[in-house]
Amino acid sequence: MKTIFEKSVPGRQALSLPECDVPLYQLSPELLREKPLRFPEVAEIDLVRHYTALSKRAYGVDDGFYPLGSCTMKYNPKLNEEAANLPGFTGIHPLQEQKTLQGALKLMYTLGAKLAEITGMDQITLQPAAGAHGEYTALQLIRAYHLDHGNPQRNKIIVPDSAHGTNPASAAMNDYITVNIPSGPDGCVDLEALKAAVGEDTAALMLTNPNTVGIFDKNIRQIAQIVHDAGGLLYYDGANLNPIMGLIRPGDMGYDVVHLNLHKTFSTPHGGGGPGSGPVGCKAALAPYLPGPIVTEKDGVYSLTPGGDKSIGTVKTFYGNFLVMIKALAYIETLGAEGIRLAAQLAALNANYMMARLKGHFPAYSSDICMHEFVISCEKLKEEVGITALDFAKALIDRGIHPPTIYFPLIVHEALMFEPTETESKQTLDQACDTILELLREAKADPAAFKQHPVKMPIGRPDEVTAARKPILVYTPASS
Ligand SMILES: *Cc1c(COP(=O)(O)O)cnc(C)c1O
Repeated sequence: MKTIFEKSVPGRQALSLPECDVPLYQLSPELLREKPLRFPEVAEIDLVRHYTALSKRAYGVDDGFYPLGSCTMKYNPKLNEEAANLPGFTGIHPLQEQKTLQGALKLMYTLGAKLAEITGMDQITLQPAAGAHGEYTALQLIRAYHLDHGNPQRNKIIVPDSAHGTNPASAAMNDYITVNIPSGPDGCVDLEALKAAVGEDTAALMLTNPNTVGIFDKNIRQIAQIVHDAGGLLYYDGANLNPIMGLIRPGDMGYDVVHLNLHKTFSTPHGGGGPGSGPVGCKAALAPYLPGPIVTEKDGVYSLTPGGDKSIGTVKTFYGNFLVMIKALAYIETLGAEGIRLAAQLAALNANYMMARLKGHFPAYSSDICMHEFVISCEKLKEEVGITALDFAKALIDRGIHPPTIYFPLIVHEALMFEPTETESKQTLDQACDTILELLREAKADPAAFKQHPVKMPIGRPDEVTAARKPILVYTPASS
């Protein structure tokens, strides 16, 4: 498909402006560009066709089943979009006087309070723009806390080998030394390895629970005790909150600080780099370091309070991605406490149903019961007929199913990690399982043909290594 620039014809336009009826203002020559900007010049119909064609090549939750593990690609109710589109929200400016922004401030205050309740934390900042940004912010809080308590030597962050890649990356971004600890055979934290790793230099343990293989680590209280006894803090990667929301709370498990992904758990559309939100919640001991401003309430009046003396400072322009907050609050309010709990339970039920149907056919990593996601492996299939997790993912694309997460977590070879989410029906799950089992038979019957997938897509199999190592991210026009 040609780019919009390649479709450009000099002089062609998608709009016609009325004749200018004010005097032309001449900019002085030093303010002018040397060469005109290169804009694509196309007619409206070409413009519409171009982007419609592109949109048809994209795949999202609204197109079909999207069981991408760890990413919680649940359906996003359209009502949330309606709410975020209300002119009272879209027409305001962050620098308006606070008394004219009471509704928006109340919304942020209410969302913060709900998230604090759901996570069992004392304070929330809504500023961070995504999960990794939340991790970064939380690690800054952890550093500020240790420095303030006279412990600059606490420069190590412990991360289990099953952790999401952003965890060690965020630690490195914050100049921490990452200490990896192995998981036990059940994917849970190896307590002996943890005891050996903690010490005077421990800043925190970053841990998600349920972990990335979809198993709830029952030793969480003991883990918290070990970390706290060593003087460290416990950090919850909240990307896996979906199966526990309304049921148990990180704050009650012993965590000191959490980040949430509103764009996963709280049904905000994501993928493709759209706006996200990664609020951070913390216990009172960490609250003095939170970024400002924070919304406070007194006698029914809401105001933006700057961060205190000890604040790590602002981490995002203004107050965070406000429209994402609206969608999250709309979701929480429409479900209510009961609905949130039910959504969590259905997320676990759906994952268990799918795992039960598949695990006789693929070795499953998870034990009897999983939480919101489960991991099966193509290792046996690879040994028998040479079909890998990647081959299987490519074949699923041809069948209109978004592939699961593959080769993650790293502790499982040839991993396929499915997270069906609570918004899928039994029919959809059954259809997906039937397709997967059919593909398994095809893979065994004719591995060479199977390796040709995908054959129905505009692009088949790009060279993955070159794509990862030498990505071409900038369009260079032929004539420049
Ligand atoms: C998605 C995810 C993150 C990072 O969130 P982003 O919003 O993509 O930055 C961190 N940890 C886990 C476990 C995740 O699934």
